[in-house]
Amino acid sequence: MNALDHLIEALRRLPGVGQKSAQRMAYHLLQHDRAGADALARALQEAARHVRHCERCHTFSETALCKICQDTKRDARLLCVVESPADQAAMERTASYHGYYFVLQGRLSPLDGISTREIGVAPLLERATDGQVEEVILATSFTAEGEATAHVLAEALKARGLRSTRLARGVPVGSELEYVDLGTIAHALVDRRPS
Ligand SMILES: [Zn+2]
Repeated sequence: MNALDHLIEALRRLPGVGQKSAQRMAYHLLQHDRAGADALARALQEAARHVRHCERCHTFSETALCKICQDTKRDARLLCVVESPADQAAMERTASYHGYYFVLQGRLSPLDGISTREIGVAPLLERATDGQVEEVILATSFTAEGEATAHVLAEALKARGLRSTRLARGVPVGSELEYVDLGTIAHALVDRRPS
């Protein structure tokens, strides 16, 4: 395989990128944007080398603890569970939540072999039972898999004597949190209900 084919193969690893778009990206970079190609290569290498997961909430971080977990002014009684760093960023942009987070590695999907182990339920339960958390807000997406994930988490938390709530139904069914408008998320948060 030559260098061009290698590049196209590598680009195809990105979500939603098929053979054709990978080809288009590769041709564009090599024909029109060599400086961009260099910058992209460097940025990828830097990120792959330095970005890891926060020890406490598992979001992306370049330090052992992320900025939010380091912030002692947040409400330690609240723990919001999301599916991805992108969903966490969406919650943060609403500026209406001031507790801490736990970021799962996706959501349950038994058909794809993604179980409680893959998404990190055990570390979540450990984090939630630190003695300070009083309410776990389940902010997984409103897709069938996101709902199933919230249900499993609610049962596991209940078995450990922890209270959990779910975002209210204002969020359209089938939505990924990161694509929902901020006002809707903020309302869903205020109107959260016992799960
Ligand atoms: Zn963190």
